Amino acid sequence: MPEINVLSYQYVEETDCVTATKYDSTACHTRQATIFGCHIWRFVSRLSCGQRCFEVLLLSMFYAEKHTFGPVTGLEVGIAPFGSPIKSVYLYHLGTLLIDTGPHHLRRKVTDMVAPLPVTSILLTHHHEDHSGNAARLSKELQAPVSLHPYGAAKLADGFRILPYQHILFGRSQPLAAQHYPEIIETDRFKLTPLHTPGHSKDHTVFHLEEQGWLFSGDLYVGEKIQFFRVDEKIEQQIDSLKKISTLDFKELFCAHRPSIKDGPAHLRRKLDYLESFHQQVHELHRQGLEEKEIVRRLRIKSDLPVRLFTMGNASFANMVHSSLNTKDR
Ligand SMILES: [Zn+2]
Repeated sequence: MPEINVLSYQYVEETDCVTATKYDSTACHTRQATIFGCHIWRFVSRLSCGQRCFEVLLLSMFYAEKHTFGPVTGLEVGIAPFGSPIKSVYLYHLGTLLIDTGPHHLRRKVTDMVAPLPVTSILLTHHHEDHSGNAARLSKELQAPVSLHPYGAAKLADGFRILPYQHILFGRSQPLAAQHYPEIIETDRFKLTPLHTPGHSKDHTVFHLEEQGWLFSGDLYVGEKIQFFRVDEKIEQQIDSLKKISTLDFKELFCAHRPSIKDGPAHLRRKLDYLESFHQQVHELHRQGLEEKEIVRRLRIKSDLPVRLFTMGNASFANMVHSSLNTKDR
């Protein structure tokens, strides 16, 4: 089991979590929970029986299902402690390409599902551990190179640290020597254009197949009226990325956390409208003299305390407000 640095709190600082939570009335609790959680994780991960129990517990909760969308195969994997999976992840296979590789915890399931498929190249939409978790393993087993954005390639080259909740849900991605995308990715059947769409992460990239009218959108969509941001998400960049994609010609959206979605542009348009409206609301309240924490209270629809505590402040509604205030009014 990978060991997390007891000073994971420093990792949080690297990703601006401290500045992101300063305005939050529960910031102090969040910081304490982060440090406490890291200590607990380090203790459990050092016990061989703790390690074994954790693995057995995870094995009993694995979920995997194959979906067919015409020539595209969707491999859905996740952890399902209560019957239905928590935030399942989709890997997509088309021709000889595999897009994303799922979390490392599900490496055996993923390997079994991918094994019968012809794969000569692996593409990653971004470096996050639920997408890159099995890239190193699959690349080695299938003798298939992995490509992603240069920022993500640098992150994977050294391996990157994750928080305890990410260890629990996904596991840590193994280091990997990946290459950068070419301008156009061509196979004998498909032609994909990688388009950089930062905001969710610095390296986030979508793949457009103009001829088929498909967009493999990674985490660009996920949902329309989202209520949480990671600390390192940038709302202004997400808005710009959604605007960029709205000019493309496509019909079907292959989201990494939802199956194939018909009428993809309309879904992305609604998400763009929502984020722009949210951004404007935050700035309007700020112009009226409201402090950041007051804006959070005013706009929050329901409590996000369980999510904040579980993720140790890495995901919260307040992060959305903070990201808006850190960018100019539009
Ligand atoms: Zn992501």
